[in-house]
Amino acid sequence: MQLYNTLSAEERALLIEQAGQNRLTLSFYAYAKIQDPQQFRDDLFLAWSPLNALGRIYVANEGINAQMSVPAEDFEALRQTLEAYDFMKGIRLNVAVEHDDMSFLKLTVKVRRKIVADGLKDSSFDATNIGIHLKAKAFNDMLSNPNTVVIDMRNHYESEIGHFEGAITPDVDTFRESLPIIEAQLAEHKADKNLLMYCTGGIRCEKASAFFKHKGFQNVYQLEGGIIEYTRQIKEEGLQSKFIGKNFVFDHRLGERITDDIIAQCHQCGAPCDTHVNCANEACHLLFIQCDSCAEKMHHCCSDECVAVIQLPEEEQRALRRGVQKGNLIFKKGKSAALKFKNERNVFEEIVPVKVSAVTKIRKKRIEKRKPIGKVEHYFTKAGVGQFSIDSDGIKVGDTLVIVGPTTGEQKVILERMMVNGQAVQESAIGDKMTMSLDFRVRKSDLLFKLIE
Ligand SMILES: [Zn+2]
Ligand SMILES: [Zn+2]
Repeated sequence: MQLYNTLSAEERALLIEQAGQNRLTLSFYAYAKIQDPQQFRDDLFLAWSPLNALGRIYVANEGINAQMSVPAEDFEALRQTLEAYDFMKGIRLNVAVEHDDMSFLKLTVKVRRKIVADGLKDSSFDATNIGIHLKAKAFNDMLSNPNTVVIDMRNHYESEIGHFEGAITPDVDTFRESLPIIEAQLAEHKADKNLLMYCTGGIRCEKASAFFKHKGFQNVYQLEGGIIEYTRQIKEEGLQSKFIGKNFVFDHRLGERITDDIIAQCHQCGAPCDTHVNCANEACHLLFIQCDSCAEKMHHCCSDECVAVIQLPEEEQRALRRGVQKGNLIFKKGKSAALKFKNERNVFEEIVPVKVSAVTKIRKKRIEKRKPIGKVEHYFTKAGVGQFSIDSDGIKVGDTLVIVGPTTGEQKVILERMMVNGQAVQESAIGDKMTMSLDFRVRKSDLLFKLIE
């Protein structure tokens, strides 16, 4: 019996391409008491493999948390596999608004201790005694009630670019930090205030609402399906969005615009901006907010030190990285002494939004030099993947590439990820066949260039 993946991501991309099916990206979670998570995990894997379901799923004694994709025609079949479990009868499957057939290239079902890291001991309280779920309209009504305290259950870098009007946005790095802080701050209002909470997809509030009820809060409410579902309902029912700015998401886009309000600022110059980026220095990769003009000035780096590093030859950079744990740095998420405009906030300070009209992008013309690299061999339309032969010079992740052809025109991309022989690689050399995702179509024999400065 086949209990684990055997295909590489690249092989999978080809199969998806060849199958020519539309896939749906969806997410769901459920808290439950699962006796044997390993058996549950194996059963799910066996049920989902024949459906060509792909994704990243966590199961634990406390339940299941899934982000996955499935061929549109197998959506109902997938639902049936869930309905087979009592605790998932009638479960809401959040289907993503934007369709991306390649959102997942593997089926990974992992057994974990928790489905969300909350730092709580399950035995100390009843995690199934949750707050009252509110839909968008009821949530809006509850927001305008003066007796309501609204709390953002997400982390500082998430609420920084978008949140509900009047929300308390704790300055925390993790969900587990926020629970005791909020409890202490609101200790005197356990009976007289409505505690209204929200998060990205609803899962953190499930745990948080049970926690606050256990701690004696009388009136606990949560946004059903989180900001994602709220946005969908707002659009469908023509309601006014009380969420302002951008919803931080964990895929490559790093944020989905909900309203035109820009409530954050560039961490380097203080200009209104809500674009999250990762520092271009591989060894740093810090997540922070950077405006276009700082991006240009700082070569997409967070600090002068990082600018110096990225100008070193690749071998030297790699030598510097050797043995360095970069995990801690990445997860500082915007907290660095080099960033003058990343505000350390009081934990319970209310953020007052600054209304500005959408920023216009000013792009300076620059004289560019191009070096020929190779050409397009194939374009997998459904997958949105281009295959290139590397003929005259190597390239590496971070390079700016230009693809030129009579129909394609001129398309510029920053190389964020590429594959050679089924492996994600940092560099590819002459003779390689390289594939990369492209959100536009290229044609066979289009030419590939690298920008040099
Ligand atoms: Zn700036
Ligand atoms: Zn950096």
